[in-house]
Amino acid sequence: MITKARRVFIKTYGCQMNVYDSERIADVLAAEGFEAAERPEDADLILLNTCHIREKAAEKVYSEVGKLRLMKKAARAEGREVKIAVAGCVAQAEGAEILKRAQAVDVVVGPQSYHLLPALLKREKRAVETEFPADSKFDHLPEPGIRNMHLLPSRLHAHPLQKAHLPAPVAAFLTVQEGCDKFCTFCVVPYTRGAEASRPVAKVVEEAELLASRGVKELTLLGQNVNAYHGEGTDGRTRSLARLIAALSEIDGIERLRYVTSHPRDMSDDLIEAHASLPKLMPYLHLPVQAGSTRVLHAMNRGHDRGFYLRLIEKLRSARPDLALSGDFIVGFPGETEEDFRDTLALVEAVEYASAYSFKYSPRPGTPAAEMAQVPEGEKSERLTRLQALIAKQQAAFNARMRGLDIDVLFEKPGKRPGQIVGRSPWLQAVHADAPEEMIGTVVPVTIDAIGANSLFGALKDASLRERAIA
Ligand code: SF4
Repeated sequence: MITKARRVFIKTYGCQMNVYDSERIADVLAAEGFEAAERPEDADLILLNTCHIREKAAEKVYSEVGKLRLMKKAARAEGREVKIAVAGCVAQAEGAEILKRAQAVDVVVGPQSYHLLPALLKREKRAVETEFPADSKFDHLPEPGIRNMHLLPSRLHAHPLQKAHLPAPVAAFLTVQEGCDKFCTFCVVPYTRGAEASRPVAKVVEEAELLASRGVKELTLLGQNVNAYHGEGTDGRTRSLARLIAALSEIDGIERLRYVTSHPRDMSDDLIEAHASLPKLMPYLHLPVQAGSTRVLHAMNRGHDRGFYLRLIEKLRSARPDLALSGDFIVGFPGETEEDFRDTLALVEAVEYASAYSFKYSPRPGTPAAEMAQVPEGEKSERLTRLQALIAKQQAAFNARMRGLDIDVLFEKPGKRPGQIVGRSPWLQAVHADAPEEMIGTVVPVTIDAIGANSLFGALKDASLRERAIA
């Protein structure tokens, strides 16, 4: 008897860690015989992999589930049963409350438990699983399947991993660490993702080798506090992120390594030294500081002051002079004065970021900062505008400096125009050039001749390769 394959629609919100988790959830479901649905209307299972970082995150999930409820009802009228699962950080934070408030939801599963999805889906009753199990979910996940990434509808994701027409991605994420022990006063992560935990070196290397054997050339190591990595080595001793990166550098086929997101306090000397000694480690670092005022940094419980951060940047730049930096900033943290904010502007001026993300502070229920005296909305908006203007100016200046330079580009996918392909510079800028598609997956020097709003344009440096592109 041939049974029709069940179809799943996965919608991912939030950060790269959620994108990685969605890929692994896709692996788990593919092993159960699920295939991809391009639209939620066609799915037997709709899974929302949620993020708790944005304001009113839970309310947005409830509203999304409200829309899906109607879809589920319509399917039932046609004699088709559709299940709805909520995964990720909102699932972790809200837990059983989701089942109470959203009758249409069948399964609630936290980020540490999604390997249990098949069992949860088989239960007669609606199920919730938000424990932090003692054994790691990574021990129970099937082998990562590039094929299974195609369970993720391409239009939902920005990363080339999810483009269904690509035979195999050139760049991939690999989670090496999860959780956070820092308890910044504005952040929910320590409550939703639990304590810092690292995967053993051998497991990470094994997964990286598998990805390399499938054509992956660039790996971005992921962790909420990735540089707090402290995985077990084969001898049972703990290894730092620098040691892990050194081990991954040895893998044939892997040409580029990156890691995100780092905490300044965990930027150890051996990791700084790795930027000097490991050529595969790309000269681009996302190192959030959040604010430039020591007073605000203390109120945020960041565990360091302004001087510490600036000294760290100096050390990093002497180890790797072409290192470009990106960061995150929160504007209008409770108690932030105009003077504090000016310290942030001055820090940005001093560091000269290649890019940075900035947001107005908004309280997260249950975090200490939510109880502190708030800065008026108007002041926050006005400060954000000033900060973003400065960051945009720095980003444009950084990109403009690329004009006329020959830079190595790892080509990742076809461009919008026929004959054009797109890749990434060592500093993560998108670079477009006319070149044959067989160059996808290779690192090729490109001479930059034009700077766009969000990307660079250039020609292959090698004249014979350029001729091939024209032919
Ligand atoms: S370091 Fe702070 S901001 Fe980053 S995840 Fe931990 S608590 Fe959140």
